Amino acid sequence: MAQDFIYLDYAASTPVDPRVAECMRDCRESGYANPSSNHIAGRVSRANIERAAEQLAALLNVDPATLIWTSGATESDNLGIAGAARFRSHRGKHLVTLLTEHKAVTDVFRMLEKQGFEVTWLKPEDDGRLDPAAFAAALRKDTQLASIMYVNNEMGVMQDIEAIGSICREHDVLFHVDAAQAVGKVPIDLQALPVDLLSLTAHKFYGPKGIGALYIADRPGCHVEPILFGGGQQQRIRPGTLPADLIAGLGLAAEIAQPRIDTDHDHLKNLRRRLWAGIQGIEGVLVNGNIESGFPGILNVSVEDVEGESLLLELEPICVATGSACNSKSQEPSYVLRALGRSDLLAQSAIRFSMGRPTTEHEVELAARRYREAVARLRDLATAAAP
Ligand SMILES: *Cc1c(COP(=O)(O)O)cnc(C)c1O
Repeated sequence: MAQDFIYLDYAASTPVDPRVAECMRDCRESGYANPSSNHIAGRVSRANIERAAEQLAALLNVDPATLIWTSGATESDNLGIAGAARFRSHRGKHLVTLLTEHKAVTDVFRMLEKQGFEVTWLKPEDDGRLDPAAFAAALRKDTQLASIMYVNNEMGVMQDIEAIGSICREHDVLFHVDAAQAVGKVPIDLQALPVDLLSLTAHKFYGPKGIGALYIADRPGCHVEPILFGGGQQQRIRPGTLPADLIAGLGLAAEIAQPRIDTDHDHLKNLRRRLWAGIQGIEGVLVNGNIESGFPGILNVSVEDVEGESLLLELEPICVATGSACNSKSQEPSYVLRALGRSDLLAQSAIRFSMGRPTTEHEVELAARRYREAVARLRDLATAAAP
């Protein structure tokens, strides 16, 4: 299929793997029955869902019974955070999170603040990373839940989930992780990682949009109150008719991802190195985040004296993001970059390049050249317009 654009926005969404698309088509043809129905056709749908649960469980090294299907990471974040905070509210109402979380996390905490919970908003270091010691210092006797993301969607910054989770365990604090950008891309072993609740979404790892999951550890004190009410599916934790075709697609996407995590990672590392090599010579350009420790599928750069929206227009037909896709409708500089101490101007110039499995060296080299040219042109225009 000919494309008249170069897609470098894989952190916003990924294309559906053709094998996943085929699996979902088959599933729609044979497994359209309601999986809750007690007849043969319903059993077919149920079997598709059970297989997907096993595929996802294998990727995360968990028991399939710990996985709750949702409509995506937004819902998983909402259910995991609000559900756990409410479940534990009789013990205490203090919660901890990071200023640079996705809106699907920060806005749940803002809602909980209005409902009488108290939230500590941690500020990361200038490179986006949270110092585990600073995290530990924020915990109190009445802290019940913390939520820290795995891979940041704007900058690719990776948090030390193991260290932060261990601190949570020591203090009997439930630990939620938004892993939407990590699942299927970095190895996650939930038998080894001290994580209680984990959110994921299929469309960030070559599965369909509109389906995700929340992992809920099978541990005492780890439970969520539902935020939706209805037909009693999924132990009443998340009722509603399950979309067997989407779930089967998520399952297959997980199965496809598992054996290739390392090769995908190497591929992305090579691409990011080439991309950065092509733009690091520009005067006044700097990386948002940490290029050594960050997830290699994302490179976020700011540049002095250039405005992001104009850059985005100049870069066409290269599809990149200013800030994050979710915030790009507003002209506000990214709240994530502002939290790192970037000035409004530098935050406003930020461009996020995000690469994926289909990305080629040619594409990133072309993107780097277009970026260099765009910055030069915008600077020329600004000089010409100056009095
Ligand atoms: C994409 C994303 C979400 C939202 O996922 P949806 O499936 O679109 O609801 C939440 N958190 C992070 C970190 C994301 O990257």
